[in-house]
Amino acid sequence: MRTLVLLCLLLSLAGPAVGTDRIRVTTTLPGLADWTRQIGGERVEVHSLLTGLENPHSYEPTISDVKRIAGSRVLVRVGLGLEEWLDGAIQNARNIELIVVDASRGVSVIDDGGGHSGEHKGNPHVWLDPDNAVIMCRNIAWALEEADPFPGDYYQNRFEAYARRIRSAARAIRERVARLPDKRFLAYHGAWPYFARALGFEVAGVVTGRPGQEPSARSLARLVDRIRAEHLRVLVTEPQLSSKIPEVLAEETGIRVVALSPLLGTGNATTYLDLLRANAATLIAALSEGGR
Ligand SMILES: [Zn+2]
Repeated sequence: MRTLVLLCLLLSLAGPAVGTDRIRVTTTLPGLADWTRQIGGERVEVHSLLTGLENPHSYEPTISDVKRIAGSRVLVRVGLGLEEWLDGAIQNARNIELIVVDASRGVSVIDDGGGHSGEHKGNPHVWLDPDNAVIMCRNIAWALEEADPFPGDYYQNRFEAYARRIRSAARAIRERVARLPDKRFLAYHGAWPYFARALGFEVAGVVTGRPGQEPSARSLARLVDRIRAEHLRVLVTEPQLSSKIPEVLAEETGIRVVALSPLLGTGNATTYLDLLRANAATLIAALSEGGR
């Protein structure tokens, strides 16, 4: 009996939920941080390197980012070559305990012809598909289980409850998209193929190739012709990108420009589910407005 009491005492002292003993998790993107909080609850302390205002393709880590990684047990990134800037920071952090999670492991990747990274890892904006989000959350749950000495069913239960919420939000959006007579939109940057595929929208084309690269005058002229010929009515841009070219296209063709954010941290959304719903609602509203 005495041994049992002692054992219980030891277990409760070792539990990660006690006081400051939370599992320290660093994520690259704020959306990954939200997922980690949804699944990790009061057992985790989460920090995102990006606030959401930066371009995730070209971010440059700071000294304090390296310190964060050095002090973390788990590092969650998307993977698929999105965070090529992270490798140096991981090396500099010299943290042999660090569990590095490629959250995208196991998702079905859309090949965009090397349009993103030169290494043909496919389009990295996988998190914008809610079905992929479920897979990514499961990967996060497994990593937290690995990092937690006494995980029990805690993470698994929270993951399953959260996955149900993601699936029901996606179902509600799909029903609304299915009723749209015209589901096509033009994307300024190729962030939206997963979002479109999962929810029933159609990406009619992408304005820029590699992120940060501006289209030539000739390809812009071709685009203007296409917008007119195919009656494309909506162009999706992003708050993290320059609005110059979308404005030119709008002036030239009258195409409606709407900003959707692939990242949390801009606008009012504070969770992934808010962001998913807000992006879908903005795009549905733009596509529903009367044609030109
Ligand atoms: Zn991109």
